Amino acid sequence: MAETTPQLASYAAHPQASRGRVFTEPSPQFRSEYQRDRDRIVHSSAFRRLEYKTQVFVNHEGDMFRTRLTHSIEVAQIGRSIARALQLNEDLTEAIALAHDLGHTPFGHAGQDVLNECMRDYGGFEHNLQSLRVVDELEEKYADFYGLNLTFETREGILKHCSPDKARELDELGQRFLQKTQPGLEAQLANLADEIAYNNHDVDDGLRAGLINIEQLCEISLFKRQHDEVAARYPELGGRRRVHEIIRRMINDQVSDLVNNSQQNLLSHQPQSIDDVRTLAKSMICFSEDMRQQNLQLKQFLRKRLYQHYRVRRMSNKAGRVIRELFTAFMTEASMLPPEQSDHCKKLEAELGEPGRARAVSDYIAGMTDRYAIVEHGRIYDPAALT
Ligand code: MG
Repeated sequence: MAETTPQLASYAAHPQASRGRVFTEPSPQFRSEYQRDRDRIVHSSAFRRLEYKTQVFVNHEGDMFRTRLTHSIEVAQIGRSIARALQLNEDLTEAIALAHDLGHTPFGHAGQDVLNECMRDYGGFEHNLQSLRVVDELEEKYADFYGLNLTFETREGILKHCSPDKARELDELGQRFLQKTQPGLEAQLANLADEIAYNNHDVDDGLRAGLINIEQLCEISLFKRQHDEVAARYPELGGRRRVHEIIRRMINDQVSDLVNNSQQNLLSHQPQSIDDVRTLAKSMICFSEDMRQQNLQLKQFLRKRLYQHYRVRRMSNKAGRVIRELFTAFMTEASMLPPEQSDHCKKLEAELGEPGRARAVSDYIAGMTDRYAIVEHGRIYDPAALT
């Protein structure tokens, strides 16, 4: 069957009806507004740095594991497939997927937790908000504005969660967290594509690292079902091919459930436009109850067996120490910041006092790759290291 690009549904994000950009710009000539967003994200320096940021395994543990960059590309791939099946906007979905982790610290969740602790007295640190901060303020690429000046819809998708306090500090983007309404469907979708991507690739990476094994995974119904099917169909198949056959089927199982269930939701609620979607009481893009339970079982398994594995905990602990010590050093002695960060720090400190200094230090640390953080830590704490 020939590949066709379906028409956008009425409830999809239509670029000509976008709520627009903070800084008004002429429309692009050959691209849609969301393609332009996607392109700006791909050309950003924060995007390039995702290559050397940890997903679960620290970058130098091996070249075979996912990084934030390959994770983001997998999210975009899964997201686009779902968007196309539901006649939603693929370009917007891709833009959100590629940008969703731009604000992540080095060293995965361990890094974010420690930076949040360090920032406790200065407004905290949250990676979703930081992703927004990267695209709204921190990228310096355009003559006319700071940040990437993305459309409202892409920014809405990037900001998955937000506390009411923080939401009050934001423009219209914060409103939905105060009024408890929904984002557009592409944003809802990118969020679930993220989950599908990381749950499945963490199984793959965990197996590859030898931290979990097939026997343990057979406790999980999502895995067991596909495992048995592959074993029945290809009894001789072993090694990496067997693992990949199982995982690709798990992804397909989850994506198919999500498409079918979301289609049902849309049929029964009949939204006519993206603004109708935003006023609905619940998310339209979601798994069936049965798949939601299975997904939960997989997540609990990964938390217990992989994220809490003693070898992962050791890595997290070391990573936390690096982040904490970098933060302390720059907060105590801001004159050690490199010139660009020092200017940023002086500016924020002049505006906001000590919390401004802390924000600049956290921007610097959050922007680091794993290896840069380790090298920078050495330059500051190792007396023998070159500065
Ligand atoms: Mg993610």
